[in-house]
Amino acid sequence: MSMVDSRPHSPHVDRVFWMPVPDQQVPASDGTVEGAGVRAGTRHAFWGRRWDGQEAEVRTVCGVVVNLDESSPLDWITMPECGPCRTEILRVRGEMRS
Ligand SMILES: [Zn+2]
Repeated sequence: MSMVDSRPHSPHVDRVFWMPVPDQQVPASDGTVEGAGVRAGTRHAFWGRRWDGQEAEVRTVCGVVVNLDESSPLDWITMPECGPCRTEILRVRGEMRS
């Protein structure tokens, strides 16, 4: 006989999506763009199915409130995955199973 699943329904941790977030979201004072569209940043995780494209300010899984914007395919290639986000996802999901 298997254990009864008595977990509370927590839809916000069932799904996660990743989005590249540029490090510096402060526009350069002179308005110039450095490089050929390459931006430094981090791919953070967010609870939910996907970004609805409406909400600009979103909290990352690792607890930072960021402004999401349309990301370029280059951002996905150049920005490394956020370690704290990955750790937090594993921690929360681990707790759900215990
Ligand atoms: Zn993060």
